[in-house]
Amino acid sequence: MQSDQESCEQVASELQKILTKFESVNNHTQESLKDAIHSLENIQQEIQQKASQVFGDDRLTDVQKSIVRDCMKKVQETSKSVSSQHKDLHGSVSKIGKAIDKNFVSDFSPVPKCLGEDKISLLNEVICEHFLRQGRLNIAEALIEESKLELTEKAKLPFLEMHEIVEGLKAQNLVPALTWAERNHEILSKQNSSIEFNLHRMNFLMLLNSKSEHSRWDAVQYAKIFQIFSPRHAKDIQQLMGCFLFQDRGIEHSPYAHLLSLTAWQELEEQFAKDACMLLGHAMESPLMIAINAGTKTLGPLMHITNVMLQKQLPPEWGPKAELPVSVDLGQDSLFHSVFACPILRQHVAESNPPMKLTCGHVVSKDALNQLFNGQKVKCPYCPAEQNITNALRLHV
Ligand SMILES: [Zn+2]
Repeated sequence: MQSDQESCEQVASELQKILTKFESVNNHTQESLKDAIHSLENIQQEIQQKASQVFGDDRLTDVQKSIVRDCMKKVQETSKSVSSQHKDLHGSVSKIGKAIDKNFVSDFSPVPKCLGEDKISLLNEVICEHFLRQGRLNIAEALIEESKLELTEKAKLPFLEMHEIVEGLKAQNLVPALTWAERNHEILSKQNSSIEFNLHRMNFLMLLNSKSEHSRWDAVQYAKIFQIFSPRHAKDIQQLMGCFLFQDRGIEHSPYAHLLSLTAWQELEEQFAKDACMLLGHAMESPLMIAINAGTKTLGPLMHITNVMLQKQLPPEWGPKAELPVSVDLGQDSLFHSVFACPILRQHVAESNPPMKLTCGHVVSKDALNQLFNGQKVKCPYCPAEQNITNALRLHV
């Protein structure tokens, strides 16, 4: 059996063949169409010239008629050949699908399905959220309708705004992002976020670096906004004032060039996405993408062990709720904080029932702690340590 890399290489080489074919068909089509258009234009010009020479006589001579007929024939042949080449391309594209089928496993039926029917609507919701994140409203709405999801307009709006802002930042337009940051000023400063300052900094630098006649004056006026950020960003503001010295030669040719670089824009975009997700209470990465990446990495080992178990005629020992029989390294990107579940009440902790650390170091939920309290002391359920209930420390997860 070939390795995954060999499979990818096989498919890539098929893909390359088709790309080359696309290019040659494209070039040929362009040339043929250009020729056809050129001949038509020549004839048109000739006829017009004749019409202007002999006023009122718009009849064609026999020679001209024959030229027009020949030209029509040629154009028809060209269009026939272009369309047959186009048809031929379809066949080549479908070969890619066959190459993928041939080189990769497509039958995963031995692997037990871990998604019950009752979870389908949850899955649809996650897919829908993914499309909303990408700003692909049409697809999301079609899915909402077809799967009868209950997703209100209100739930959709923040995603759409977020997408619009990210697109704005990609096009180096700061207006939507600044409006959003100013509207969320209070909550962003409470979270110690520097996004608002960073957006204003970029706007200031753009103003200063603009070729407008009043750019220096505009930048001086704009700099007043930094007053409210001075407690946290004094050093950054000093640096910005230094930028005035380099206005003549352009910030991009100064020691502060990095502040206006493409990387700075990308960082701004990433920071915005992160902070906006935090504000909305959503994960920064699309949960669907995370699950798909984890799934594709896990499927191979899972297929392998399933086949081994089938060969040995062992019943599969895992179902939707059991742990995977193999450990799969998903990489650093997929490391998340686990959710703390109270070992006594077997419930996930929440804001209303947070985890509490006892003096011995063991952790239980607040509700469990209250249940363990006998009116005077709390006895740890894991070790014999006794303590005052007031000594338990709240943990933040
Ligand atoms: Zn203990």
